[in-house]
Amino acid sequence: MIRFGAANRVPTPHRAGDDPNGNGAGLPTGSRAGNHFGDGFRRPTTAEKTTMRTHDVDHELIRAATEVARTRCRGDNHTVAAAGRAPDGRIVTAVNAHHFTGGPCAELVLIGTAAAGGVHDLDTIVAVGDRDRGVIPPCGRCRQVLLDYFPAIEVIVGGGDRLRAVPITDLLPESYVWADHQLDPG
Ligand SMILES: [Zn+2]
Repeated sequence: MIRFGAANRVPTPHRAGDDPNGNGAGLPTGSRAGNHFGDGFRRPTTAEKTTMRTHDVDHELIRAATEVARTRCRGDNHTVAAAGRAPDGRIVTAVNAHHFTGGPCAELVLIGTAAAGGVHDLDTIVAVGDRDRGVIPPCGRCRQVLLDYFPAIEVIVGGGDRLRAVPITDLLPESYVWADHQLDPG
């Protein structure tokens, strides 16, 4: 395991609900031991270092999505849960509504659920599959929607030692911005 000096510290400050003690409650202690130094800052793994733009992982958010996936997903209609962190620290959760006509992914249901609760911005989002499938990356449609709704949102992706939070812009490079390509009506 490569260890990084203070100069490589991930700069994102902790928010309420982060895991400042690095205990990763609910996760195997050993899984983070190699890149956690007890000062509240998680060092990037070698894979993460490729961009150096990854931030601390919100494990409470993952646990929230995992719990909803475990207890609320059912049959073929609801197979993925998502959890989003609002700027005020609140966590919003939702499940997908699968349908052959194009039922929305959990991330998209979550946007509506958040709005219904007065949450119109999200700092971080994660999706977790039912039946212990772990973190699932957003599909292409969700990446575009998330980018348009929350340009600064971070998405938790990967698993195991590669679990990380990345800016949505990293998941959709050279992205299409609808407003940039509308004809001038005048
Ligand atoms: Zn999707």
